[in-house]
Amino acid sequence: RIAYVNGRYVKLAEASVNIEDRGYQFGDGIYEVFYAYHGRLIDEALHFARLTRSRGEIGLAAPMSDAALRVVIQELMRRNRVGTGLIYLQLTRGVAPRDHAFPAARRPALTMTVRPKPAPPEGLAGWHAAAITLPDERWGRCDIKSINLLPNALAREAAKQAGALEAILFDTTGMVTEGASSSIWIVGADNVLRTRALDQRVLPGCTRAALLADVAAEGVTFREEGFSVEALRGAREVFMTSATSFVKPITRLDGAPVGNGAPGLVASRLYTRYLARLKEQGAD
Ligand code: PLP
Repeated sequence: RIAYVNGRYVKLAEASVNIEDRGYQFGDGIYEVFYAYHGRLIDEALHFARLTRSRGEIGLAAPMSDAALRVVIQELMRRNRVGTGLIYLQLTRGVAPRDHAFPAARRPALTMTVRPKPAPPEGLAGWHAAAITLPDERWGRCDIKSINLLPNALAREAAKQAGALEAILFDTTGMVTEGASSSIWIVGADNVLRTRALDQRVLPGCTRAALLADVAAEGVTFREEGFSVEALRGAREVFMTSATSFVKPITRLDGAPVGNGAPGLVASRLYTRYLARLKEQGAD
């Protein structure tokens, strides 16, 4: 397997960065994850826009143009013979003697890896996934896709220990923010589909943004508004979305079944739409 490290394509096993890279010492960096299907990046424009935004919010210079970045991604996929899989891209403030404030000379460091990941299955039949709820212990700028993921990793490990796929986080007022690495949606007892409105407590999910068009096309009653953990527990449907998990129903929450314990109708319809969009964008 081949990685991209600051302008060079190197064997993954030999790919390394300086121990004084600010990403390594301070978590001073951002990242992006793309899903590629049959050689095409899904929701590409949304991911590039978010990358630019995250970079701007922490004052990082662009390592190259978006067009050049696209070429590197395609070349990395070609060298790894991966058409369908994940692209991980990380940008840090680069190497400098350890000091909290930014170094004078700013040379951002860019690294990328690619990993195959099969296309999602044709349907949700037989799908089951559990989630747990946990307090959101992250910082106040979760809208930035920062590489500081310790609270997310701790939450996800707690989920794993509980035999669950995802940890659903809630703020100090008891309102759900998002999953450790996903956007969370519910269909409430009132049959209204909801996901939290974007603010600094959640990452603006690209899959979330793309799915809004599908929600409208399906004619689902939808409100972009927050919901409490109680509403989550009483929901008919709960599902998560992300570029890597697609649209995934949560069928058990904190040990109790969600709705009738099977993937719900709204999630299933949106999943079908998602698959169609994948095929449309990935068609060559
Ligand atoms: N929220 C968090 C905290 C995430 O880490 C992710 C993605 O990994 C998402 C939401 C979903 O974002 P996207 O749909 O762009 O993958």
